[in-house]
Amino acid sequence: MAPATESLTDLQKEIFTKISNNEVAELKTLLTANKMKMDFVDENGMSPLQHACYKGNKEIVQMLLDQGADVNSCQHEHGYTALHFAALSGNAELCHLLMSYGARLTATNSVGRTPAQMAAFVGNHNCVATINNFIPKADIDYYIKPQGLQTEPMLLPHLADSFHKFIMEVNVHPVRVAINLQKCPGLLENLVKVQKVLEAMRHREMTRGVETNEVMAFKYHYLSCVTAEIIKCQKRQEAMKAERSDKEKINDEAEEKKSDAVELLVRKFLKCSKTDGNPEYQEAFLREAVREFPFRESTIFRQMVATLAGSDPPSAVSVVSAAINGQRGFSDNLQVCVTCGEEKATKKCSKCKAVQYCDRECQRLHWFMHKKACARLGQSSNNVKLSDADKVQIGNAVSSRLQNLAVN
Ligand SMILES: [Zn+2]
Ligand SMILES: [Zn+2]
Repeated sequence: MAPATESLTDLQKEIFTKISNNEVAELKTLLTANKMKMDFVDENGMSPLQHACYKGNKEIVQMLLDQGADVNSCQHEHGYTALHFAALSGNAELCHLLMSYGARLTATNSVGRTPAQMAAFVGNHNCVATINNFIPKADIDYYIKPQGLQTEPMLLPHLADSFHKFIMEVNVHPVRVAINLQKCPGLLENLVKVQKVLEAMRHREMTRGVETNEVMAFKYHYLSCVTAEIIKCQKRQEAMKAERSDKEKINDEAEEKKSDAVELLVRKFLKCSKTDGNPEYQEAFLREAVREFPFRESTIFRQMVATLAGSDPPSAVSVVSAAINGQRGFSDNLQVCVTCGEEKATKKCSKCKAVQYCDRECQRLHWFMHKKACARLGQSSNNVKLSDADKVQIGNAVSSRLQNLAVN
């Protein structure tokens, strides 16, 4: 049943035109002046919201959602939902917005593909990761209310938003996870509780019957391992402080920063061995985290263990992130932050221009490792080219080795 365009009013046609031309301000004026329902569709069954998603325009999508557009309404001739179109557009933030409005992750189009599968099909890996890492707010509600005989909830309600944001972060590089814990207000002061909730969520993902999600279970497990590691550092720091406080007071701010548990752990994660230049502590920590996953019968566990046990295995951080976020090509994301693995890191070290960072904070954290290499890399401009070529080569090698590690 193809909806007829003739039945569209001039105003409705105008709305479609404004959306396809990305005319944000004009559309806003139009929508403010005419309070109307957004449930009409064009000749292909596409709603205004779906058009805006196809264009990848988050601002317009927000406007239409405010106007009451239904995220899951679907009259499209091939069964595409707004989230399918957003996934095709490549705008991960837009995908996140739609999901926070309740967009169904499992909706399939006429060829049986979900939004995440469509995103993967066209190579929009950020959208795939964002969709796969999305957690409905309702999943956390359970933990902020006392259950059964509990007198208090596992997680204090005011931490719910911080915690929700923390567990949905896509980048699972251990340095980034540690920084995120520090950045999300309130979490660092409540790490023991955070870890308990993560363990409970890990268990729940494995006991959902047909909806059992090994990948999410492993992600919660992994986050709980990093959390536990920071708790350990905090305890050690406190013990050291108590020992020292009698003799000398720490007034120096730099000294205080160095004694910060997250900072200390980040430095451990980044420290590379002199012999092979690999981050030994990070590698050992990640391998241990994989080994400690309690669901040993799961596919994800067996695949990771097999990959790490192979001869000349890829780095543990690439195995862990591939397990959680799926395969990604390396060719288009060479701009990776050397500190935290964040993609599209656009800031370069101004001295050598050979390494990239997300921001000043990442550069600061990495400086103790980079300062020696910086002088050497800066000496010849050829080195920059060489290093890029190296990165491509390494990227391809890792990528081909990871081919067999398909999860899902
Ligand atoms: Zn970074
Ligand atoms: Zn440098």
